[in-house]
Amino acid sequence: MAPLTASDIPSLSLLYKLRKLSAAPPDTPLPPTRLGPNTGTTLPTPSKALNDRVGLIRGDITKLAVDAIVNAANQSLLGGGGVDEAIHRAAGPRLYRECRALGGCATGSAKMTGAYALPARRVVHAVGPVYNPFDRAGSERLLTGCYTRSLELAAEGGCRTVAFSAISTGVYGYPSRDAAPAALSAIRAFLTGPDGEKIDKVVVVTFEMKDVEAYNQFIPLYFPPVAEDQPTTDREEETRETEAKLTAEAEAIAAELPSAPTADPYDLGHAGKKQKQKDN
Ligand code: ADP
Repeated sequence: MAPLTASDIPSLSLLYKLRKLSAAPPDTPLPPTRLGPNTGTTLPTPSKALNDRVGLIRGDITKLAVDAIVNAANQSLLGGGGVDEAIHRAAGPRLYRECRALGGCATGSAKMTGAYALPARRVVHAVGPVYNPFDRAGSERLLTGCYTRSLELAAEGGCRTVAFSAISTGVYGYPSRDAAPAALSAIRAFLTGPDGEKIDKVVVVTFEMKDVEAYNQFIPLYFPPVAEDQPTTDREEETRETEAKLTAEAEAIAAELPSAPTADPYDLGHAGKKQKQKDN
Protein backbone atom coordinates (compact mmCIF):
# COMPACT_ATOMS: atom_id res chain seq x y z
CA MET A 1 0.00 0.00 0.00
CA ALA A 2 1.27 3.48 -0.86
CA PRO A 3 2.25 5.58 2.18
CA LEU A 4 -0.57 7.73 3.53
CA THR A 5 -0.18 11.49 3.39
CA ALA A 6 -1.54 13.84 6.05
CA SER A 7 -4.60 14.62 3.95
CA ASP A 8 -5.39 10.90 3.55
CA ILE A 9 -5.66 10.57 7.33
CA PRO A 10 -9.18 11.24 8.63
CA SER A 11 -9.61 14.35 10.72
CA LEU A 12 -11.67 14.37 13.91
CA SER A 13 -14.32 16.39 12.06
CA LEU A 14 -14.71 13.59 9.53
CA LEU A 15 -14.66 10.87 12.20
CA TYR A 16 -17.51 12.60 14.05
CA LYS A 17 -19.49 12.85 10.81
CA LEU A 18 -18.94 9.17 10.09
CA ARG A 19 -19.91 8.26 13.66
CA LYS A 20 -16.51 6.71 14.32
CA LEU A 21 -16.30 9.17 17.21
CA SER A 22 -19.22 10.43 19.23
CA ALA A 23 -19.80 13.29 21.61
CA ALA A 24 -19.31 12.63 25.31
CA PRO A 25 -22.53 12.45 27.33
CA PRO A 26 -23.57 15.90 28.60
CA ASP A 27 -21.86 17.05 31.82
CA THR A 28 -18.97 14.59 31.48
CA PRO A 29 -16.12 16.16 33.44
CA LEU A 30 -12.62 16.33 32.03
CA PRO A 31 -10.46 13.43 33.18
CA PRO A 32 -8.23 14.19 36.14
CA THR A 33 -5.05 15.27 34.35
CA ARG A 34 -2.80 16.71 36.97
CA LEU A 35 -1.15 19.35 34.83
CA GLY A 36 -1.74 21.50 31.79
CA PRO A 37 -4.28 24.13 30.96
CA ASN A 38 -7.28 21.83 31.00
CA THR A 39 -7.40 20.91 34.64
CA GLY A 40 -10.85 22.43 35.13
CA THR A 41 -14.04 20.50 35.00
CA THR A 42 -15.65 22.06 31.95
CA LEU A 43 -14.98 20.83 28.43
CA PRO A 44 -13.03 23.11 26.11
CA THR A 45 -15.00 25.10 23.53
CA PRO A 46 -15.77 22.98 20.44
CA SER A 47 -13.84 24.17 17.39
CA LYS A 48 -14.28 22.97 13.83
CA ALA A 49 -10.96 24.58 12.86
CA LEU A 50 -9.16 22.54 15.54
CA ASN A 51 -11.03 19.31 14.77
CA ASP A 52 -9.92 19.66 11.15
CA ARG A 53 -6.29 19.91 12.30
CA VAL A 54 -6.17 16.73 14.36
CA GLY A 55 -6.18 13.29 12.76
CA LEU A 56 -6.58 9.81 14.18
CA ILE A 57 -5.55 6.55 12.57
CA ARG A 58 -4.78 3.02 13.68
CA GLY A 59 -1.78 1.50 11.95
CA ASP A 60 1.95 1.39 11.40
CA ILE A 61 3.54 4.81 11.85
CA THR A 62 6.42 3.86 9.52
CA LYS A 63 3.96 3.93 6.61
CA LEU A 64 3.00 7.59 7.00
CA ALA A 65 4.27 10.19 4.54
CA VAL A 66 3.93 13.12 6.95
CA ASP A 67 6.59 15.74 7.65
CA ALA A 68 7.59 14.21 10.99
CA ILE A 69 6.81 11.01 12.85
CA VAL A 70 7.39 10.86 16.59
CA ASN A 71 9.19 7.79 17.87
CA ALA A 72 8.84 6.42 21.41
CA ALA A 73 12.59 6.17 22.01
CA ASN A 74 14.70 5.48 25.09
CA GLN A 75 17.40 7.69 26.66
CA SER A 76 20.21 6.15 24.60
CA LEU A 77 18.42 6.91 21.30
CA LEU A 78 20.12 3.79 20.01
CA GLY A 79 17.02 1.78 19.28
CA GLY A 80 14.92 -0.56 21.36
CA GLY A 81 11.84 -2.70 20.85
CA GLY A 82 8.33 -1.76 19.78
CA VAL A 83 7.82 1.24 17.57
CA ASP A 84 11.49 2.27 17.94
CA GLU A 85 12.59 -1.00 16.38
CA ALA A 86 10.03 -0.69 13.57
CA ILE A 87 11.23 2.86 12.79
CA HIS A 88 14.93 1.92 12.78
CA ARG A 89 14.27 -1.11 10.62
CA ALA A 90 12.30 0.90 8.06
CA ALA A 91 14.67 3.91 8.08
CA GLY A 92 17.85 1.84 7.62
CA PRO A 93 21.30 2.01 9.28
CA ARG A 94 21.91 5.70 8.55
CA LEU A 95 19.31 6.59 11.19
CA TYR A 96 21.26 4.65 13.81
CA ARG A 97 24.45 6.49 12.79
CA GLU A 98 22.81 9.90 13.19
CA CYS A 99 21.27 8.90 16.53
CA ARG A 100 24.65 7.71 17.84
CA ALA A 101 26.06 11.19 17.29
CA LEU A 102 23.32 12.82 19.39
CA GLY A 103 24.62 11.64 22.78
CA GLY A 104 21.27 10.47 24.14
CA CYS A 105 18.28 12.47 25.32
CA ALA A 106 16.71 13.25 28.68
CA THR A 107 13.39 11.68 29.68
CA GLY A 108 10.52 14.08 28.95
CA SER A 109 12.37 15.64 26.02
CA ALA A 110 13.04 14.88 22.35
CA LYS A 111 15.57 15.21 19.52
CA MET A 112 15.04 15.32 15.76
CA THR A 113 16.83 13.45 12.97
CA GLY A 114 16.44 12.69 9.28
CA ALA A 115 14.10 9.91 8.24
CA TYR A 116 16.27 8.23 5.55
CA ALA A 117 14.35 5.36 3.90
CA LEU A 118 11.07 6.21 5.68
CA PRO A 119 8.32 7.98 3.73
CA ALA A 120 8.28 10.73 6.41
CA ARG A 121 10.78 13.64 6.13
CA ARG A 122 12.00 13.70 9.75
CA VAL A 123 11.88 11.57 12.90
CA VAL A 124 11.43 13.13 16.32
CA HIS A 125 12.74 10.78 19.01
CA ALA A 126 10.82 11.45 22.22
CA VAL A 127 11.88 9.78 25.44
CA GLY A 128 8.79 8.99 27.47
CA PRO A 129 8.88 8.09 31.16
CA VAL A 130 8.74 4.58 32.53
CA TYR A 131 5.36 4.86 34.28
CA ASN A 132 5.67 5.35 38.03
CA PRO A 133 2.38 4.57 39.81
CA PHE A 134 3.77 6.17 42.98
CA ASP A 135 4.47 9.47 41.20
CA ARG A 136 1.67 9.89 38.72
CA ALA A 137 2.05 13.67 38.53
CA GLY A 138 5.78 13.25 37.79
CA SER A 139 5.04 10.71 35.05
CA GLU A 140 2.47 13.03 33.54
CA ARG A 141 4.82 16.00 33.58
CA LEU A 142 7.42 13.99 31.66
CA LEU A 143 4.93 12.57 29.17
CA THR A 144 3.43 16.02 28.55
CA GLY A 145 6.99 17.32 28.05
CA CYS A 146 7.54 14.75 25.29
CA TYR A 147 4.49 15.91 23.34
CA THR A 148 5.18 19.62 23.79
CA ARG A 149 8.92 19.38 22.99
CA SER A 150 8.24 17.20 19.93
CA LEU A 151 5.78 19.74 18.56
CA GLU A 152 8.21 22.60 19.27
CA LEU A 153 11.02 20.77 17.44
CA ALA A 154 8.75 19.95 14.50
CA ALA A 155 7.59 23.58 14.23
CA GLU A 156 11.18 24.89 14.48
CA GLY A 157 12.18 22.43 11.74
CA GLY A 158 9.40 23.54 9.39
CA CYS A 159 7.46 20.28 9.75
CA ARG A 160 3.79 21.15 9.28
CA THR A 161 2.33 17.66 9.69
CA VAL A 162 3.29 15.52 12.68
CA ALA A 163 2.25 11.98 13.63
CA PHE A 164 2.67 10.66 17.19
CA SER A 165 3.00 7.07 18.36
CA ALA A 166 1.45 6.39 21.76
CA ILE A 167 4.58 7.24 23.74
CA SER A 168 5.26 5.19 26.90
CA THR A 169 2.15 3.02 26.57
CA GLY A 170 4.13 -0.05 25.47
CA VAL A 171 6.97 -1.54 27.50
CA TYR A 172 7.19 1.65 29.60
CA GLY A 173 3.83 0.69 31.09
CA TYR A 174 1.95 4.00 31.04
CA PRO A 175 -1.78 3.16 31.25
CA SER A 176 -3.45 4.23 28.00
CA ARG A 177 -6.40 5.81 29.86
CA ASP A 178 -3.95 8.16 31.62
CA ALA A 179 -1.60 8.69 28.67
CA ALA A 180 -4.31 9.70 26.18
CA PRO A 181 -5.65 12.66 28.26
CA ALA A 182 -2.10 13.94 28.85
CA ALA A 183 -1.28 13.67 25.13
CA LEU A 184 -4.51 15.34 24.02
CA SER A 185 -4.16 18.12 26.56
CA ALA A 186 -0.61 18.88 25.36
CA ILE A 187 -1.61 18.73 21.67
CA ARG A 188 -4.55 21.08 22.24
CA ALA A 189 -2.42 23.49 24.27
CA PHE A 190 0.19 23.62 21.50
CA LEU A 191 -2.27 24.06 18.63
CA THR A 192 -4.04 26.89 20.45
CA GLY A 193 -0.77 28.43 21.72
CA PRO A 194 1.52 31.07 20.19
CA ASP A 195 3.25 28.62 17.80
CA GLY A 196 0.14 26.61 16.97
CA GLU A 197 -0.18 28.09 13.49
CA LYS A 198 3.19 26.59 12.55
CA ILE A 199 1.62 23.12 12.47
CA ASP A 200 -1.18 22.20 10.06
CA LYS A 201 -2.08 18.75 11.31
CA VAL A 202 -1.25 16.56 14.30
CA VAL A 203 -2.04 12.88 13.86
CA VAL A 204 -2.51 10.44 16.71
CA VAL A 205 -1.42 6.96 15.62
CA THR A 206 -2.79 4.07 17.63
CA PHE A 207 -1.63 0.50 17.28
CA GLU A 208 -3.17 -1.62 20.02
CA MET A 209 -6.87 -1.73 20.93
CA LYS A 210 -6.29 -0.30 24.40
CA ASP A 211 -5.04 2.94 22.81
CA VAL A 212 -7.82 2.96 20.20
CA GLU A 213 -10.34 2.72 23.05
CA ALA A 214 -8.62 5.36 25.18
CA TYR A 215 -8.51 7.89 22.33
CA ASN A 216 -12.11 7.17 21.32
CA GLN A 217 -13.09 7.90 24.91
CA PHE A 218 -11.00 11.01 25.52
CA ILE A 219 -10.88 12.82 22.15
CA PRO A 220 -14.52 13.98 22.57
CA LEU A 221 -13.50 15.61 25.86
CA TYR A 222 -10.47 17.53 24.55
CA PHE A 223 -11.76 18.13 21.00
CA PRO A 224 -15.55 18.09 21.36
CA PRO A 225 -17.62 17.99 18.17
CA VAL A 226 -19.23 21.16 16.88
CA ALA A 227 -22.89 20.94 15.83
CA GLU A 228 -22.04 20.64 12.11
CA ASP A 229 -19.65 17.72 12.80
CA GLN A 230 -22.43 15.75 14.43
CA PRO A 231 -24.21 13.14 12.35
CA THR A 232 -27.91 13.75 11.96
CA THR A 233 -30.09 11.45 14.01
CA ASP A 234 -31.87 8.53 12.32
CA ARG A 235 -35.18 10.31 12.73
CA GLU A 236 -33.92 13.48 11.06
CA GLU A 237 -32.40 11.49 8.22
CA GLU A 238 -35.64 9.56 7.73
CA THR A 239 -37.66 12.77 7.59
CA ARG A 240 -35.22 14.28 5.10
CA GLU A 241 -35.42 11.19 2.88
CA THR A 242 -39.23 11.17 2.97
CA GLU A 243 -39.31 14.88 2.10
CA ALA A 244 -36.94 14.35 -0.82
CA LYS A 245 -39.08 11.47 -2.12
CA LEU A 246 -42.27 13.51 -1.85
CA THR A 247 -40.69 16.45 -3.67
CA ALA A 248 -39.46 14.16 -6.45
CA GLU A 249 -42.94 12.60 -6.79
CA ALA A 250 -44.57 16.03 -6.86
CA GLU A 251 -42.13 17.18 -9.54
CA ALA A 252 -42.83 14.07 -11.66
CA ILE A 253 -46.61 14.64 -11.46
CA ALA A 254 -46.19 18.32 -12.27
CA ALA A 255 -44.19 17.43 -15.40
CA GLU A 256 -47.13 15.35 -16.71
CA LEU A 257 -49.67 18.19 -16.32
CA PRO A 258 -50.67 20.26 -19.38
CA SER A 259 -48.93 23.60 -19.48
CA ALA A 260 -50.68 26.36 -17.60
CA PRO A 261 -52.93 28.66 -19.66
CA THR A 262 -51.15 31.79 -20.75
CA ALA A 263 -54.24 34.00 -21.07
CA ASP A 264 -57.16 34.72 -18.84
CA PRO A 265 -60.21 32.73 -20.10
CA TYR A 266 -62.38 35.86 -19.69
CA ASP A 267 -60.40 37.60 -22.41
CA LEU A 268 -61.09 34.84 -24.91
CA GLY A 269 -64.37 33.97 -26.56
CA HIS A 270 -65.45 30.34 -26.76
CA ALA A 271 -64.17 30.03 -30.34
CA GLY A 272 -60.99 31.78 -29.47
CA LYS A 273 -60.33 29.30 -26.73
CA LYS A 274 -60.87 26.36 -29.11
CA GLN A 275 -58.76 28.04 -31.72
CA LYS A 276 -55.94 28.37 -29.26
CA GLN A 277 -56.10 24.71 -28.33
CA LYS A 278 -56.01 23.74 -32.03
CA ASP A 279 -52.92 25.84 -32.50
CA ASN A 280 -51.22 23.86 -29.81
P1 ADP B 1 7.50 2.75 25.09
O1 ADP B 1 8.80 2.10 25.49
O2 ADP B 1 7.59 4.24 25.07
O3 ADP B 1 6.36 2.22 25.87
P2 ADP B 1 6.81 1.06 22.81
O4 ADP B 1 7.45 1.04 21.47
O5 ADP B 1 6.93 -0.17 23.63
O6 ADP B 1 7.36 2.35 23.55
O7 ADP B 1 5.27 1.40 22.63
C1 ADP B 1 4.78 2.66 22.29
C2 ADP B 1 3.52 2.50 21.51
O8 ADP B 1 3.83 2.24 20.16
C3 ADP B 1 2.65 1.33 21.95
O9 ADP B 1 1.31 1.81 22.08
C4 ADP B 1 2.73 0.33 20.81
O10 ADP B 1 1.52 -0.37 20.65
C5 ADP B 1 2.94 1.26 19.65
N1 ADP B 1 3.56 0.68 18.45
C6 ADP B 1 4.34 -0.42 18.32
N2 ADP B 1 4.71 -0.58 17.03
C7 ADP B 1 4.15 0.44 16.32
C8 ADP B 1 4.14 0.84 14.94
N3 ADP B 1 4.82 0.17 14.01
N4 ADP B 1 3.44 1.95 14.59
C9 ADP B 1 2.76 2.66 15.52
N5 ADP B 1 2.73 2.35 16.83
C10 ADP B 1 3.41 1.26 17.23
